[in-house]
Amino acid sequence: MSLPISFDPPRRLLLGPGPSDCHPRVLRAMAAPLLGHLDPAFVGLMSNLQDLLRQAFQTKNTLTLAISATGMAGMECTLVNLLEPGDKVVICAAGHFGQRMVEVAGRAGAKVSTLAMPWGQVFDLNQIREVLQSVRPKVLGIVHAETSTGALQPLADLGKLSHEFDTLLVVDTVTSLGCVELDVDGWEIDAVFSCSQKGLSCPPGLSPVSFSERSAEVIRNRKTPCQSWYLDLGLLMKYWGQDRFYHHTAPITMNYALFEGLRLVIEEGLETRWNRHKLHHRALKAGLESLGFQYATQQDAILPQLNAILIPKGLEDLPVRKAMLEDYGIEIGAGLGDFRGKIWRIGLMGYNARKDVVMQVLAALGSVMKRLGHPCDIALALEASDGIYSKA
Ligand SMILES: *Cc1c(COP(=O)(O)O)cnc(C)c1O
Repeated sequence: MSLPISFDPPRRLLLGPGPSDCHPRVLRAMAAPLLGHLDPAFVGLMSNLQDLLRQAFQTKNTLTLAISATGMAGMECTLVNLLEPGDKVVICAAGHFGQRMVEVAGRAGAKVSTLAMPWGQVFDLNQIREVLQSVRPKVLGIVHAETSTGALQPLADLGKLSHEFDTLLVVDTVTSLGCVELDVDGWEIDAVFSCSQKGLSCPPGLSPVSFSERSAEVIRNRKTPCQSWYLDLGLLMKYWGQDRFYHHTAPITMNYALFEGLRLVIEEGLETRWNRHKLHHRALKAGLESLGFQYATQQDAILPQLNAILIPKGLEDLPVRKAMLEDYGIEIGAGLGDFRGKIWRIGLMGYNARKDVVMQVLAALGSVMKRLGHPCDIALALEASDGIYSKA
């Protein structure tokens, strides 16, 4: 057999629901030589990474680390450590990732009550209060940024509400960290999990998690051992905490990447970064609306970093996404579940929340639509978008 030629990935602009493009500084950080996973220099990096994570999450939580796996492992880690068989949990599900929390909690042996809403909508506090009152769950799970519907769930008062009922608040922040406001301590959130490849513009492979003291106590007082050995926080903290016991071989290079990704977040400033996402979202939205698009999301809950737009009548899902990829090197996301074939998802996450990206995707999408027989005015769309920038 002959040796295959080395892999040279085609150039892409990753504007789907994740991964987003890596920041060039992150890619450079990954080219550094390896260290051993117990090398003093590496464990020093781990501590610094934990500090940066605390800043990004806005928390003082001791129990803050990066799970060596993707966002789903963070979800699983959070739920299997907090829940024991028979525990009651309420999950708010109005999209694909809310539904996954239902599934993961169920597999952990918990008694799951699902609070559902039509896709694209968010939950209000009174609705949640009623369920907490009747179920009295140990844990309430909710998604901050529902990537499958483009909806931003307001969270500011939910922690306080949960604590009225002695319930722990668990939040999926996989698509929100690094893009929109998130205040773990201020909002009294008890557990969060996120990922490296969306708002932080690193490759997929790490899942930042953080647990409040309330959560830590619940975990310490478990009656049964955590069902997952790999994700058992008690064991993981013997590696991430003072002891530095070998648990698993940390993905060294990924930790370099996340460290640099977080440095970029803190260097820019949280507030500035959230505002940058808002600005480029407004410019993209103006252009998309000028092209005739409507959002699939409740109007007052649209995520800046993930634009879920309805596919217009007369256009098909696949040919458009295929032309975007093949002719322009641009990846946009398809719809999942209830939204399959009905929406496209355009992400402007982290490094990709930029003016040149907004202009590029509008021009490409407009020209693809035109070519497939859907009339639109590209120049007008670019002008609409530019109008937002000149007023900013
Ligand atoms: C992407 C995503 C996940 C899953 O993360 P992976 O890194 O793909 O495992 C979970 N929740 C939400 C809201 C997501 O967008």
